[in-house]
Amino acid sequence: MSAKVWLIGAGPGDPELLTLKAVRALGEAEVVLIDDLVNPAVLEHCPQARVIGVGKRGGCRSTPQDFIHRLMLRYARQGKCVARLKGGDPCIFGRGSEEADWLASHGIATEIVNGITAGLAGATQCGIPLTLRGVARGVTLVTAHTQDDSSLNWQALARSGTTLVVYMGVAKLAEIRDGLLAGGMRADMPVAMIENASLPQQRECRSSLGAMQWDAAAFSLRSPAILVIGEVAAVAQAQLMARTA
Ligand code: SAH
Repeated sequence: MSAKVWLIGAGPGDPELLTLKAVRALGEAEVVLIDDLVNPAVLEHCPQARVIGVGKRGGCRSTPQDFIHRLMLRYARQGKCVARLKGGDPCIFGRGSEEADWLASHGIATEIVNGITAGLAGATQCGIPLTLRGVARGVTLVTAHTQDDSSLNWQALARSGTTLVVYMGVAKLAEIRDGLLAGGMRADMPVAMIENASLPQQRECRSSLGAMQWDAAAFSLRSPAILVIGEVAAVAQAQLMARTA
C-alpha cells in the first residue's frame, strides 16, 4: 500500500512564515525532497527524516522533473511518508499541480499545504500593500519566464489597472519595460524590486518602469527577486519615508 505525499509550501524564506500544518506534516515525514529556494532552517521540524536536495535553479545544475517524480513515487510505494518541500506556495509557479497530477496517475494521493508566496511576502516586508482602496483594485501575479519562451501579453497587463507582481523577472527587465510601455503604462510608474524577501539578506530597490533596468544593474539585483509594478510601490515609499523621518 502506498502512503500519501505531502506537497508543502515552505514560504518565502523566513522559517516563521511556515504554517502549523506544514510543521505537522514535516514532523510525520520519513523522506523530505527539498527545493533549493527553501530555507534549510525549516528542516529543524523533521530531524527524523531522510532529506534529499532536488534543486532546479535557473542556470544551475538541476534535477530533472522526471527524476523528482520517480523519487517521490519510489518512496511512496515503499509506504514511506514523503514530504515535497517547495519555496513559497506549491501552486504558484511551483509545479505543485503537475506533481499532484502525475502522482495521481500512478495511484498516489497527495495533500497540498499552502505556503506564503514570495510576491505577497516581499511586498509586505517592504510596506507595500498590493491592493489599496482607491489606488489598486487588484493584483496580478505573472511569471516572466516560460518553458517555451513564449511572451506574455504585457500590453494587456499594462491596461489591467492592477498591481503587477512579476516572478522570475530579473533577466527580463528590458522586455517587461518595453511591453508595458507599449501597452501605455507610464514610464514613471513606480517599481519595487525585492531580493531575498523575508530573509535577513533581503534588499529592495525602488525605481520606475522606465529606469528599472538601469537601477537594477547599478544595484546588482540578483535572483531570487520579485518586481512589484504599480502605484502602490510609491504609496509605500511615501509611507516608509514618513516613518523614518
Ligand atoms: N512557488 C514560489 C515561486 C517559485 S518561482 C512562490 O510561491 O513563491 C521562483 C521565483 O520566485 C524566483 O525567481 C523569484 O522571482 C521568486 N522568489 C522566490 N523566493 C523569493 C524570495 N525569497 N524573494 C524574492 N523572490 C523570490
